[in-house]
Amino acid sequence: MSLNQMTAHELHELMMKKEVSAEEITKAVYDRIDKVEDKVKSYITLTREQALETARKVDEKIAAGDKVPPLAGIPIAIKDNICTSGVKTTCASKILYNFVPPYNATVMEKLNSQQAVMVGKTNMDEFAMGSSTENSGFHVTRNPWDTERVPGGSSGGSAAAVAADECIAALGSDTGGSIRQPAALCGVVGMKPTYGAVSRYGLVAFASSLDQIGPFTKDVTDCALVLNAICGHDPMDSTSVKYSVPDYTQYLQNDVRGLKIGVPKEFMAEGLNPEVRKVVEEAIATLSNLGAVVEETSLPHTEYALPVYYIIAPAEASSNLARYDGVRYGYRSVEADDVVEMFMRSRSEGFGEEVKRRIMLGTYALSAGYYDAYYNKALKVRTLIKQDFDKAFEKYDLLLSPTAPGPAFKIGENIDDPVQMYLQDIFTLSVNLAGIPGISIPCGFVNGLPVGLQFMAKPFGEGTLLRAAYTFEQNTEFNRQRPAL
Ligand code: GLN
Repeated sequence: MSLNQMTAHELHELMMKKEVSAEEITKAVYDRIDKVEDKVKSYITLTREQALETARKVDEKIAAGDKVPPLAGIPIAIKDNICTSGVKTTCASKILYNFVPPYNATVMEKLNSQQAVMVGKTNMDEFAMGSSTENSGFHVTRNPWDTERVPGGSSGGSAAAVAADECIAALGSDTGGSIRQPAALCGVVGMKPTYGAVSRYGLVAFASSLDQIGPFTKDVTDCALVLNAICGHDPMDSTSVKYSVPDYTQYLQNDVRGLKIGVPKEFMAEGLNPEVRKVVEEAIATLSNLGAVVEETSLPHTEYALPVYYIIAPAEASSNLARYDGVRYGYRSVEADDVVEMFMRSRSEGFGEEVKRRIMLGTYALSAGYYDAYYNKALKVRTLIKQDFDKAFEKYDLLLSPTAPGPAFKIGENIDDPVQMYLQDIFTLSVNLAGIPGISIPCGFVNGLPVGLQFMAKPFGEGTLLRAAYTFEQNTEFNRQRPAL
């Protein structure tokens, strides 16, 4: 196995034994990028020089006999909506094509403090609006398992980079499924932590009450290691929760005996690809055989999750995206005669179609006369959805479902049908509306394309997610398969 195919914990061990250097690992990753990036197109920006410099510093420390943190020298890719000081952060939007943040997101400060190696910034749907990475203002990313297909989205670049071994791990953001769905479609591990568990400071806002940063990794152990690095309270984010962050590796136990898992029947119904259903049913059988108690349950308000999300997320987006006016940063139209025309032209030339659609939906939902009918009502139904979960978690330790309704679809297949595209997140959206954590892990294949299994837990139940995911992984082989590319 080449170095770029290994996990962070394996590489850390090799570095500590001085069998490989961080520089060698970083070079292996860029060699891979040089070889496959033309086919996959995971990245918007590469930070090769800076990465090699960081790696060499880690090697100096190790040579001096220092013990380094678990992510030191580990090449990690960063979604391009996470601010990186001195490195372009575009959100895959023309409107931010030249934006260089003067500061780091808190998660970047945390990764830097471990001396993790940033490989580059990954492609995404513009402002994280989408499920296929086709909405990028720059280029389409391709699924490493079948380059005619999408990697999912919006964090498609991060998922594809991990799956194609163009990095060891990656960060993404998840507002309605944008970590879990691409993780499922690319056959990697992806987690959306509890709302408030990871600081959003420096994450370019899409829908602030739903957005959360989380990891993409090659196995569950690495997921725990990245969580250890990025979780924790941050005074710079007023929605960040004060809690004591456990060492998540303590939950990596190969044991689900007695764990009570509910399968919401609404998540196994309409719209689910029958072959995906079969794979998920096999996964359920595996968990039962390992001693988990799996039962059918119900989240009765599930049918409202999609409409509620498509009021709340666009409403928040329309407000968050008001700041892109061509004045302080980003794209400015040069054609305008006066300032109002400059605002209008900069925004209509700078934003892509999907982003404009969301701004219009959100502006409408928030406008006088409609605010109560749409926005306020959506907030009330959001509470009902949250209460469904509260009730389910009185009885169950975890809930389980497919992550996405089908395997990766063809590039172009859903692009002219926004509703079909929105349905990609039918099983992931409610988790964001409820603020709870969710993980997607590889659980099988349909026609050679990966399928993801989603576990959901109560707030700050990441440990239970990891325990179930780790057990499943230890007893199956799905996460060890690599795309041929
Ligand atoms: N696909 C959903 C959307 O387009 C979710 C995106 C996300 O989680 N950022 O809004």
